[in-house]
Amino acid sequence: MRPVFEVHATDGAARAGVLRTAHGEVRTPAFMPVGTKGTVKSLDPDEVHDLGAQILLGNTYHLHFRPGDEVIRDLGGLHRFMAWDLPILTDSGGFQVFSLRDTIARVDDEGVTFRSVYDGASTHFSPELAAAIQANLGSDIAMCLDQVPAAGVSRRDLEAAVRRTTLWAERQRSAPRPDGQLRFGITQGGVDAELRRRSTEEIAGLEFDGNAIGGLAIGEDRDVMFETTDWAAALLPADKPRYFMGIGDPEGILEVIEAGVDMFDCVLPTRTARTGSALTRDGRINLRNARFARDQGPLDETCDCPACSRFTRAYIRHLVNQNELLGLRLLSLHNLRFLTDLTRGARDAIDCGGFASYKRDRIERLQWADS
Ligand SMILES: [Zn+2]
Repeated sequence: MRPVFEVHATDGAARAGVLRTAHGEVRTPAFMPVGTKGTVKSLDPDEVHDLGAQILLGNTYHLHFRPGDEVIRDLGGLHRFMAWDLPILTDSGGFQVFSLRDTIARVDDEGVTFRSVYDGASTHFSPELAAAIQANLGSDIAMCLDQVPAAGVSRRDLEAAVRRTTLWAERQRSAPRPDGQLRFGITQGGVDAELRRRSTEEIAGLEFDGNAIGGLAIGEDRDVMFETTDWAAALLPADKPRYFMGIGDPEGILEVIEAGVDMFDCVLPTRTARTGSALTRDGRINLRNARFARDQGPLDETCDCPACSRFTRAYIRHLVNQNELLGLRLLSLHNLRFLTDLTRGARDAIDCGGFASYKRDRIERLQWADS
Protein backbone atom coordinates (compact mmCIF):
# COMPACT_ATOMS: atom_id res chain seq x y z
CA MET A 1 0.00 0.00 0.00
CA ARG A 2 1.26 3.47 -0.82
CA PRO A 3 1.91 5.74 2.17
CA VAL A 4 -0.70 8.30 3.20
CA PHE A 5 1.81 11.10 2.81
CA GLU A 6 5.00 11.46 0.81
CA VAL A 7 7.34 14.40 0.51
CA HIS A 8 8.90 14.47 -2.96
CA ALA A 9 10.82 17.73 -2.81
CA THR A 10 12.22 19.99 -0.09
CA ASP A 11 13.66 23.48 -0.30
CA GLY A 12 14.99 24.66 3.05
CA ALA A 13 12.27 23.62 5.49
CA ALA A 14 9.56 24.00 2.81
CA ARG A 15 8.28 20.80 1.25
CA ALA A 16 6.15 19.62 -1.65
CA GLY A 17 4.38 16.31 -1.43
CA VAL A 18 1.21 14.34 -1.84
CA LEU A 19 -1.46 13.40 0.68
CA ARG A 20 -3.60 10.39 -0.20
CA THR A 21 -7.19 10.22 1.06
CA ALA A 22 -10.22 8.03 0.41
CA HIS A 23 -11.46 10.65 -2.10
CA GLY A 24 -8.21 11.17 -3.93
CA GLU A 25 -4.85 12.84 -3.69
CA VAL A 26 -3.98 16.32 -2.53
CA ARG A 27 -0.79 17.91 -3.77
CA THR A 28 0.83 19.88 -0.97
CA PRO A 29 1.31 22.63 0.04
CA ALA A 30 -2.47 22.95 -0.28
CA PHE A 31 -4.87 25.76 0.50
CA MET A 32 -8.20 24.48 1.82
CA PRO A 33 -11.21 26.73 1.21
CA VAL A 34 -13.71 26.67 4.05
CA GLY A 35 -17.20 25.36 3.35
CA THR A 36 -18.52 26.27 6.78
CA LYS A 37 -22.13 25.16 6.36
CA GLY A 38 -21.56 22.72 3.52
CA THR A 39 -20.88 25.43 0.95
CA VAL A 40 -18.03 27.73 0.03
CA LYS A 41 -20.20 30.80 0.20
CA SER A 42 -21.80 31.68 -3.16
CA LEU A 43 -19.74 29.18 -5.20
CA ASP A 44 -20.76 25.95 -6.96
CA PRO A 45 -18.50 23.01 -5.99
CA ASP A 46 -17.53 22.55 -9.65
CA GLU A 47 -16.31 26.16 -9.71
CA VAL A 48 -14.34 25.59 -6.51
CA HIS A 49 -12.66 22.60 -8.14
CA ASP A 50 -12.02 24.43 -11.41
CA LEU A 51 -10.33 27.23 -9.44
CA GLY A 52 -7.73 24.73 -8.24
CA ALA A 53 -9.04 23.69 -4.82
CA GLN A 54 -8.23 20.04 -4.12
CA ILE A 55 -9.72 19.69 -0.65
CA LEU A 56 -12.44 21.49 1.31
CA LEU A 57 -12.92 22.09 5.00
CA GLY A 58 -16.32 21.48 6.62
CA ASN A 59 -17.35 22.69 10.07
CA THR A 60 -18.46 20.08 12.56
CA TYR A 61 -20.04 22.65 14.85
CA HIS A 62 -22.38 24.11 12.24
CA LEU A 63 -23.24 20.87 10.46
CA HIS A 64 -24.00 19.17 13.79
CA PHE A 65 -26.68 21.77 14.53
CA ARG A 66 -27.92 22.48 11.00
CA PRO A 67 -29.05 20.30 9.29
CA GLY A 68 -27.66 17.72 11.79
CA ASP A 69 -24.87 15.23 11.19
CA GLU A 70 -27.32 12.30 11.41
CA VAL A 71 -29.41 13.83 8.63
CA ILE A 72 -26.25 14.13 6.51
CA ARG A 73 -25.28 10.53 7.34
CA ASP A 74 -28.73 9.28 6.30
CA LEU A 75 -28.46 11.21 3.04
CA GLY A 76 -25.20 9.48 2.16
CA GLY A 77 -22.57 11.62 3.90
CA LEU A 78 -21.21 15.12 3.38
CA HIS A 79 -19.60 14.44 -0.01
CA ARG A 80 -22.88 13.40 -1.57
CA PHE A 81 -24.92 15.97 0.37
CA MET A 82 -22.91 18.90 -1.01
CA ALA A 83 -21.98 17.28 -4.34
CA TRP A 84 -18.22 17.46 -3.76
CA ASP A 85 -16.53 14.18 -4.58
CA LEU A 86 -13.00 15.21 -3.62
CA PRO A 87 -11.31 15.18 -0.21
CA ILE A 88 -12.97 16.87 2.77
CA LEU A 89 -11.37 17.70 6.10
CA THR A 90 -13.72 18.39 9.00
CA ASP A 91 -12.66 20.35 12.05
CA SER A 92 -13.70 19.08 15.47
CA GLY A 93 -15.90 21.98 16.52
CA GLY A 94 -13.36 22.95 19.18
CA PHE A 95 -12.34 26.18 17.50
CA GLN A 96 -15.96 27.35 17.06
CA VAL A 97 -16.94 26.46 20.61
CA PHE A 98 -13.97 28.25 22.12
CA SER A 99 -14.17 31.29 19.86
CA LEU A 100 -17.83 31.73 20.89
CA ARG A 101 -16.59 32.24 24.43
CA ASP A 102 -19.76 33.84 25.77
CA THR A 103 -21.72 30.66 25.06
CA ILE A 104 -19.50 28.37 27.17
CA ALA A 105 -21.02 27.16 30.45
CA ARG A 106 -18.33 24.76 31.62
CA VAL A 107 -15.05 23.18 30.50
CA ASP A 108 -13.62 20.20 32.33
CA ASP A 109 -11.69 17.07 31.51
CA GLU A 110 -14.87 15.35 30.34
CA GLY A 111 -15.60 17.95 27.64
CA VAL A 112 -17.16 21.35 27.06
CA THR A 113 -20.75 22.43 27.75
CA PHE A 114 -22.08 25.41 25.84
CA ARG A 115 -25.18 26.98 24.34
CA SER A 116 -25.76 26.48 20.62
CA VAL A 117 -25.57 29.74 18.65
CA TYR A 118 -28.61 28.57 16.70
CA ASP A 119 -31.22 28.20 19.44
CA GLY A 120 -29.39 28.45 22.76
CA ALA A 121 -29.84 24.73 23.51
CA SER A 122 -27.38 23.40 26.06
CA THR A 123 -24.93 21.09 24.30
CA HIS A 124 -22.01 18.97 25.42
CA PHE A 125 -19.03 18.24 23.15
CA SER A 126 -16.61 15.49 24.08
CA PRO A 127 -13.80 13.85 22.11
CA GLU A 128 -16.07 10.84 21.56
CA LEU A 129 -18.86 13.03 20.18
CA ALA A 130 -16.41 14.91 17.92
CA ALA A 131 -15.36 11.52 16.52
CA ALA A 132 -18.99 10.36 16.11
CA ILE A 133 -20.10 13.54 14.32
CA GLN A 134 -17.16 13.37 11.92
CA ALA A 135 -17.92 9.68 11.33
CA ASN A 136 -21.48 10.63 10.39
CA LEU A 137 -20.23 13.35 8.06
CA GLY A 138 -17.86 10.82 6.48
CA SER A 139 -14.99 13.24 6.03
CA ASP A 140 -11.61 12.04 4.74
CA ILE A 141 -9.73 13.74 7.56
CA ALA A 142 -11.17 14.15 11.06
CA MET A 143 -9.65 16.54 13.56
CA CYS A 144 -9.30 15.98 17.30
CA LEU A 145 -11.27 18.09 19.74
CA ASP A 146 -8.91 20.62 21.30
CA GLN A 147 -9.19 23.42 23.81
CA VAL A 148 -8.30 26.72 22.14
CA PRO A 149 -7.49 29.42 24.71
CA ALA A 150 -7.69 33.08 23.71
CA ALA A 151 -4.45 34.85 22.80
CA GLY A 152 -2.82 36.32 25.87
CA VAL A 153 -4.44 34.12 28.56
CA SER A 154 -2.44 33.38 31.72
CA ARG A 155 0.21 30.73 31.59
CA ARG A 156 -1.84 28.64 33.98
CA ASP A 157 -4.83 28.64 31.59
CA LEU A 158 -2.57 27.92 28.65
CA GLU A 159 -1.05 24.98 30.49
CA ALA A 160 -4.51 23.65 31.40
CA ALA A 161 -5.49 23.80 27.71
CA VAL A 162 -2.36 21.90 26.70
CA ARG A 163 -2.98 19.18 29.28
CA ARG A 164 -6.65 18.84 28.34
CA THR A 165 -5.96 18.85 24.62
CA THR A 166 -3.63 15.86 25.05
CA LEU A 167 -6.12 14.07 27.30
CA TRP A 168 -8.89 14.58 24.75
CA ALA A 169 -6.62 13.50 21.89
CA GLU A 170 -5.86 10.22 23.69
CA ARG A 171 -9.58 9.58 24.10
CA GLN A 172 -10.50 10.49 20.54
CA ARG A 173 -7.74 8.22 19.30
CA SER A 174 -9.56 5.28 20.92
CA ALA A 175 -12.97 6.26 19.48
CA PRO A 176 -14.34 4.41 16.43
CA ARG A 177 -13.83 5.91 12.97
CA PRO A 178 -15.02 4.88 9.51
CA ASP A 179 -12.76 2.84 7.24
CA GLY A 180 -10.34 5.06 5.41
CA GLN A 181 -10.87 8.17 7.55
CA LEU A 182 -7.60 9.81 8.57
CA ARG A 183 -7.28 11.47 11.95
CA PHE A 184 -5.12 14.47 12.80
CA GLY A 185 -4.00 15.61 16.25
CA ILE A 186 -3.80 19.29 17.20
CA THR A 187 -1.09 20.99 19.23
CA GLN A 188 -1.70 23.96 21.52
CA GLY A 189 0.53 26.07 23.76
CA GLY A 190 0.13 29.50 22.17
CA VAL A 191 3.52 31.15 21.67
CA ASP A 192 4.91 29.85 24.98
CA ALA A 193 8.04 27.92 24.00
CA GLU A 194 7.90 25.36 26.77
CA LEU A 195 4.17 24.65 26.51
CA ARG A 196 4.15 24.55 22.72
CA ARG A 197 7.05 22.11 22.80
CA ARG A 198 5.34 19.95 25.42
CA SER A 199 2.09 19.86 23.46
CA THR A 200 3.91 19.09 20.22
CA GLU A 201 5.82 16.18 21.77
CA GLU A 202 2.71 14.76 23.45
CA ILE A 203 0.53 14.96 20.34
CA ALA A 204 3.27 13.69 18.02
CA GLY A 205 3.73 10.76 20.42
CA LEU A 206 0.14 9.68 19.79
CA GLU A 207 1.03 8.94 16.16
CA PHE A 208 -1.91 10.42 14.34
CA ASP A 209 -2.03 10.37 10.53
CA GLY A 210 -1.14 14.05 10.54
CA ASN A 211 -0.60 16.90 12.97
CA ALA A 212 -1.96 20.40 13.20
CA ILE A 213 -0.58 23.56 14.73
CA GLY A 214 -3.59 25.02 16.54
CA GLY A 215 -4.13 28.01 18.76
CA LEU A 216 -2.13 30.44 16.61
CA ALA A 217 -3.34 33.19 14.26
CA ILE A 218 -5.89 34.17 16.91
CA GLY A 219 -4.70 37.71 17.57
CA GLU A 220 -1.16 37.33 18.92
CA ASP A 221 1.77 39.29 17.51
CA ARG A 222 2.34 38.13 13.91
CA ASP A 223 6.13 38.06 14.06
CA VAL A 224 6.08 35.99 17.24
CA MET A 225 3.51 33.69 15.66
CA PHE A 226 5.74 33.08 12.63
CA GLU A 227 8.80 32.51 14.82
CA THR A 228 6.84 29.98 16.85
CA THR A 229 5.64 28.27 13.69
CA ASP A 230 9.21 27.99 12.41
CA TRP A 231 10.44 25.87 15.26
CA ALA A 232 7.14 24.19 16.19
CA ALA A 233 6.66 22.85 12.65
CA ALA A 234 10.18 21.42 12.71
CA LEU A 235 9.34 19.48 15.89
CA LEU A 236 6.44 17.71 14.19
CA PRO A 237 7.16 14.35 12.49
CA ALA A 238 8.61 14.99 9.01
CA ASP A 239 6.91 11.97 7.48
CA LYS A 240 3.40 13.21 8.27
CA PRO A 241 1.41 16.16 6.96
CA ARG A 242 1.52 19.37 8.96
CA TYR A 243 -1.53 21.59 9.02
CA PHE A 244 -1.55 25.20 10.19
CA MET A 245 -5.11 25.99 11.23
CA GLY A 246 -6.65 29.26 10.14
CA ILE A 247 -4.22 31.21 8.00
CA GLY A 248 -4.98 32.45 4.51
CA ASP A 249 -3.54 35.89 3.83
CA PRO A 250 -0.93 35.72 1.07
CA GLU A 251 2.03 36.64 3.27
CA GLY A 252 0.94 34.25 6.01
CA ILE A 253 0.60 31.40 3.52
CA LEU A 254 4.14 31.93 2.25
CA GLU A 255 5.53 32.19 5.79
CA VAL A 256 4.00 28.91 6.99
CA ILE A 257 5.01 27.10 3.80
CA GLU A 258 8.56 28.28 4.43
CA ALA A 259 8.33 26.80 7.94
CA GLY A 260 7.48 23.38 6.51
CA VAL A 261 3.68 23.46 6.75
CA ASP A 262 1.76 21.42 4.14
CA MET A 263 -1.87 22.47 4.57
CA PHE A 264 -3.75 25.56 5.70
CA ASP A 265 -7.31 26.87 5.61
CA CYS A 266 -9.03 30.21 5.84
CA VAL A 267 -12.35 31.90 5.16
CA LEU A 268 -10.41 34.88 3.81
CA PRO A 269 -11.29 34.56 0.07
CA THR A 270 -15.04 34.74 0.65
CA ARG A 271 -14.92 36.99 3.71
CA THR A 272 -12.74 39.49 1.84
CA ALA A 273 -15.21 39.32 -1.04
CA ARG A 274 -18.04 40.26 1.31
CA THR A 275 -16.19 43.46 2.19
CA GLY A 276 -15.95 44.33 -1.51
CA SER A 277 -12.22 43.61 -1.65
CA ALA A 278 -9.99 41.69 -4.02
CA LEU A 279 -6.58 40.13 -3.40
CA THR A 280 -4.11 41.11 -6.09
CA ARG A 281 -0.40 40.66 -6.71
CA ASP A 282 0.08 44.26 -5.65
CA GLY A 283 -1.93 43.97 -2.44
CA ARG A 284 -5.54 44.13 -1.46
CA ILE A 285 -7.85 46.57 -3.24
CA ASN A 286 -11.28 47.71 -2.12
CA LEU A 287 -13.58 48.09 -5.09
CA ARG A 288 -15.68 50.67 -3.23
CA ASN A 289 -12.81 53.12 -3.70
CA ALA A 290 -13.84 55.87 -6.14
CA ARG A 291 -10.61 55.46 -8.13
CA PHE A 292 -12.03 52.31 -9.71
CA ALA A 293 -15.19 53.99 -11.09
CA ARG A 294 -13.82 54.11 -14.65
CA ASP A 295 -11.13 51.45 -14.34
CA GLN A 296 -11.36 49.17 -17.36
CA GLY A 297 -8.70 46.74 -16.18
CA PRO A 298 -9.34 43.35 -14.57
CA LEU A 299 -9.04 42.81 -10.82
CA ASP A 300 -5.54 41.40 -11.42
CA GLU A 301 -3.81 41.50 -14.78
CA THR A 302 -2.09 38.15 -14.29
CA CYS A 303 -5.20 36.25 -13.14
CA ASP A 304 -7.05 33.77 -15.35
CA CYS A 305 -10.21 33.45 -13.21
CA PRO A 306 -13.73 33.89 -14.64
CA ALA A 307 -13.97 37.40 -13.11
CA CYS A 308 -10.67 38.66 -14.55
CA SER A 309 -11.15 37.12 -17.97
CA ARG A 310 -14.44 38.95 -18.63
CA PHE A 311 -15.18 41.82 -16.25
CA THR A 312 -13.69 45.22 -15.46
CA ARG A 313 -12.94 46.69 -12.06
CA ALA A 314 -15.46 49.43 -12.89
CA TYR A 315 -18.23 46.88 -13.46
CA ILE A 316 -17.42 44.85 -10.33
CA ARG A 317 -17.26 48.09 -8.32
CA HIS A 318 -20.75 48.94 -9.59
CA LEU A 319 -22.04 45.49 -8.57
CA VAL A 320 -20.45 45.78 -5.11
CA ASN A 321 -21.89 49.24 -4.54
CA GLN A 322 -25.36 48.02 -5.52
CA ASN A 323 -25.02 44.89 -3.35
CA GLU A 324 -25.58 42.72 -6.40
CA LEU A 325 -25.01 39.02 -5.78
CA LEU A 326 -22.86 38.71 -8.89
CA GLY A 327 -20.36 41.13 -7.36
CA LEU A 328 -19.90 38.88 -4.34
CA ARG A 329 -19.59 35.82 -6.56
CA LEU A 330 -17.02 37.36 -8.90
CA LEU A 331 -14.87 38.55 -5.99
CA SER A 332 -15.12 35.13 -4.32
CA LEU A 333 -14.12 33.37 -7.55
CA HIS A 334 -11.17 35.68 -7.99
CA ASN A 335 -9.95 35.62 -4.38
CA LEU A 336 -10.06 31.85 -4.23
CA ARG A 337 -8.23 31.58 -7.53
CA PHE A 338 -5.63 34.03 -6.27
CA LEU A 339 -4.81 31.85 -3.24
CA THR A 340 -4.84 28.49 -5.06
CA ASP A 341 -2.58 30.05 -7.69
CA LEU A 342 -0.22 31.50 -5.07
CA THR A 343 -0.02 28.07 -3.43
CA ARG A 344 0.50 26.24 -6.73
CA GLY A 345 3.31 28.68 -7.51
CA ALA A 346 4.89 27.86 -4.15
CA ARG A 347 4.65 24.11 -4.91
CA ASP A 348 6.31 24.62 -8.27
CA ALA A 349 9.02 26.80 -6.72
CA ILE A 350 9.80 24.17 -4.07
CA ASP A 351 10.01 21.53 -6.82
CA CYS A 352 12.74 23.48 -8.57
CA GLY A 353 14.51 24.79 -5.46
CA GLY A 354 13.44 28.42 -5.95
CA PHE A 355 11.06 28.97 -3.05
CA ALA A 356 13.08 31.69 -1.30
CA SER A 357 13.10 33.94 -4.37
CA TYR A 358 9.45 33.15 -5.15
CA LYS A 359 8.47 34.20 -1.64
CA ARG A 360 10.61 37.33 -1.74
CA ASP A 361 9.24 38.44 -5.11
CA ARG A 362 5.62 37.87 -4.16
CA ILE A 363 5.93 39.61 -0.79
CA GLU A 364 7.85 42.59 -2.20
CA ARG A 365 5.04 43.29 -4.64
CA LEU A 366 2.36 42.81 -1.99
CA GLN A 367 3.95 45.49 0.20
CA TRP A 368 3.53 48.45 -2.05
CA ALA A 369 -0.12 48.92 -2.78
CA ASP A 370 -2.52 48.18 0.06
CA SER A 371 -5.54 50.41 -0.35
ZN1 LIG B 1 -9.13 36.83 -11.09
